[in-house]
Amino acid sequence: MTVTEQTKDATATGIAIVGVGKIARDQHVPSIGRSSAFRLAATVSRNAELDGVESFATLEAFLEARPDVPAVALCVPPQVRFDLAWAALQAGRHVLLEKPPGATLAEVETLAGLAAEQNLTLFATWHSRFAPAVAPAKAWLASRTIRSVRIVWKEDVRRWHPGQEWIWEAGGIGVFDPGINALSILTEIMPLPVHLSGAQLTFPENRDTPIAASLVFSNSAGAPVTAEFDWRQTGPQSWDITVETDDGTLHLSAGGATMAIDGRKADHGPEAEYDGIYVRFAELLRKGESEVDVSPLRHVADAFMLGKRIVTDPFIE
Ligand code: NAP
Repeated sequence: MTVTEQTKDATATGIAIVGVGKIARDQHVPSIGRSSAFRLAATVSRNAELDGVESFATLEAFLEARPDVPAVALCVPPQVRFDLAWAALQAGRHVLLEKPPGATLAEVETLAGLAAEQNLTLFATWHSRFAPAVAPAKAWLASRTIRSVRIVWKEDVRRWHPGQEWIWEAGGIGVFDPGINALSILTEIMPLPVHLSGAQLTFPENRDTPIAASLVFSNSAGAPVTAEFDWRQTGPQSWDITVETDDGTLHLSAGGATMAIDGRKADHGPEAEYDGIYVRFAELLRKGESEVDVSPLRHVADAFMLGKRIVTDPFIE
């Protein structure tokens, strides 16, 4: 047993992190550390080890050596997630998936089916839904009529994704990697469903995935709903959603961290996206349930199906 395990309550559920990259180090390790429900029992990594935590080079080695660890958190890129999730579920482990939950819709649905067959929990996380202003925004919008929605998600890919080749490779979804966070908020807070009706995707001529995307959605209210994603934004970064209603304008900014109504800042809790994810995972395990909402990924898939393609300058990091 490792130092980390010994310092936690013995009733905490053992969990292994698979893929010790940026999000594992920035968010999963600290949130599991703060969680009373989970203890970090192991890591699976081709390259990295964490002090005081048992480490395995492959998932197979971990699954064989540690049948006592009931859960895994998959923090790898989407292109390699399905095989790992499949193996973990086959081995009887509950699985937490980083966003996006897979490289295709069908593979996520296949995993959900296997989890159900095995009576295991599959949790397809959308971290932005746990941003502090998202639940208050949803509650405020629930009783109002939507007039329009405008999403502007513009960031500097060189600043936020240095060296991440997988985001530019097929299945890495390019600018939708951050953009899907906006879509996860949209699909959570909207009181009525929307579907994609038009898209324009801009691909660097040397890459498989888009650097920018413009989306238009239809809905039964006839309200214009648009999204602009761009990875070429230097200077101030934008992660904003503005919703005009019959009763004022809601503005979510900083990726759902803050909210204002008609320009007045609204009250909400502190930032705790990943702590919220682990609270929810514990709840799902307690109830024996899964949570797999593919709606944000469906909009991305639809954009790849429907989108007009534009080729732009090569992207050189
Ligand atoms: P990353 O830093 O590039 O790390 C991914 C890790 O996955 C790598 O360090 C590697 O870990 C492992 N891996 C296994 N197979 C791989 C392969 N074929 N190519 C590259 N890495 C491979 O990526 P990340 O930013 O942590 O993102 C991982 C997932 O989390 C993505 O789906 C992303 O959308 C999501 N996410 C990221 C952020 C963020 O701020 N970065 C925020 C929220 C969600 P080992 O070397 O340990 O094997």
